[in-house]
Formats: sequence, structure tokens, C-alpha cells
Amino acid sequence: MPELPEVESLTAFLRERAVGRTVLAVDVVAIQALKTFDPPVSALGGLTVTGVARHGKFLDLDCDGLHLVIHLARAGWLRWRDDLSGAKPVRPGKGPLAVRVRFAPDDAGAAPGFELTEAGTQKRLAVYVTKDPDSVPGVAALGPDPLDDAFTVDALKRIVGGNRTQIKGLLRDQKVIAGIGNAYSDEVLHAARMSPFKIAATLTDAQIADLHEAIVTTLREAVERAHGLAAKDLKAEKKSGLRVHNRAGQPCDVCGDTIREVSFADSSLQYCPTCQTGGKPLADRRLSRLLK
Ligand SMILES: [Zn+2]
Repeated sequence: MPELPEVESLTAFLRERAVGRTVLAVDVVAIQALKTFDPPVSALGGLTVTGVARHGKFLDLDCDGLHLVIHLARAGWLRWRDDLSGAKPVRPGKGPLAVRVRFAPDDAGAAPGFELTEAGTQKRLAVYVTKDPDSVPGVAALGPDPLDDAFTVDALKRIVGGNRTQIKGLLRDQKVIAGIGNAYSDEVLHAARMSPFKIAATLTDAQIADLHEAIVTTLREAVERAHGLAAKDLKAEKKSGLRVHNRAGQPCDVCGDTIREVSFADSSLQYCPTCQTGGKPLADRRLSRLLK
């Protein structure tokens, strides 16, 4: 799933290539991906892309004041196409293509654009056409952005204070902090040497400062690594930069212990026992419940 660093890179990538271009048409292939009906998607035709922004994990193309807001969800991706002039119209229900954005041909006759694709059977990719990005419920509910200057140690202290949830769940809650998902929450907790099951409200001031440092550093480093990469190369870069996420059974780069996995909410998390839990493996609650 693309998280803050990947969406930040896609934003920069699109800003470079799409700003100044005129939208020829937006073809919605997977009809369930379109979450708004007024204004219609056809209203984007003829407008010029004036800016590209990121809100949490949402991409926002500003087209003369009308916004195309995109959420790639778990299995969505964006693919830039240098020339769509020869592309065949696509029938709904075939393959991973969800939305195609076509721009007007340039002087050389090429008509570039981009495609939003979604793998798998669970279709969660979402696009919105709106005059106000804050009218998108997921955008309106976003917590502070960890790359924003306003995200200080004190801001994090206010977030965790009195919060009785496990820190792993708190980090990926978009309403609490925007942009961190399953992968980077594992990475942040490994960098902070903290158990994912720790209750937020029990963190000391020193631990909150460490966690803040880990959040900002982990995300900034990932953004830097992804900077300048083409959209098609981002997925491989994300994978190669991860230290614990999806690396169960492999040795920890820091201490050499074996990275472990435990189920969490609707998926699983990975962590290093030596770095994060005093050497003790975390109990898999789902498994132990089954064994009782
Ligand atoms: Zn370790």
C-alpha cells in the first residue's frame, strides 16, 4: 500500500509532468471507484492542471479550482503513460485499470496521461471530483501531517496523552496522524525500539521524544530515497528500504536477531524482539485464543 513517502513522491512526479497540461478526458473504467457525481467527471475536460498536492495518503490534482482527489488504497497504483493517443477504449470489468486521465496532445503530437490501476478482487481505490478537497470525508478527518512543522514533540505528546490504544494501532490511524500505514508504523516502532503493543498513554516524555524522532526520520529518509524516482520504480524502492516490515524470518540489520511476525487487527505486523520487546516474542492473541 502506498503510504506517505510514496504518495509524496507520486505528488512530486505528477507536479513535474502534469502541471500546465490540459485535461482532455477522465475515463472512469471501474465505476465503483468514482465516489462523487456532482460535479460530473466530464467537468474536468478542458481544464488545466494548476497544482498537485498531497493530503495524508490522498493525491489532489487541482484543475483550475476543480479537484480530482485520488486514494490508491491497499492495492492501487499510478502509472504514467507518455502517449495515450493510440490507447484503446477499455471496457469496464476487465483487468486492473480503474481510471485513465488523458491530457491534450503536445506539440510533438504525443498525448500523455496516467492510469490508476488496482490489483486484486477487493476494490477500494477511490476518486472524487470536488471544488473543495476538504469535502472528501477521509481528507476532512485527517490528523496532523508528520512532515509538517506543526508536528512537534508537544503535538505528539497531546496525541498520545490519555490514549489507551496500542501504539501500533494509533500510528496507522489516519485521524490521529496522517499518512502512516502498516509498513511505516512497523519501521517507526523498530527505529524507536518500542513494542508495537505498548499502550500510548504509558509512554514517558523521553519515549515520546524518541518516537517523534523515529516518525520524522523514518518518513523523511523514505521520502529522500524515493525522490526523483519514476512512479514505476517506487514500489521496489519502498521494499528495499524496509528494515522489519514483511521481513519475518530474516535477520535484523541492527542486532542480528530474527525478525518475527504477529497478527494485528486485519493483518500482521513485524518486529525485532531484541530491539523492541526485551528479547521476548509477542504472544499471538489470535493463535492463543484458538488454542484455549
Ligand atoms: Zn534488532
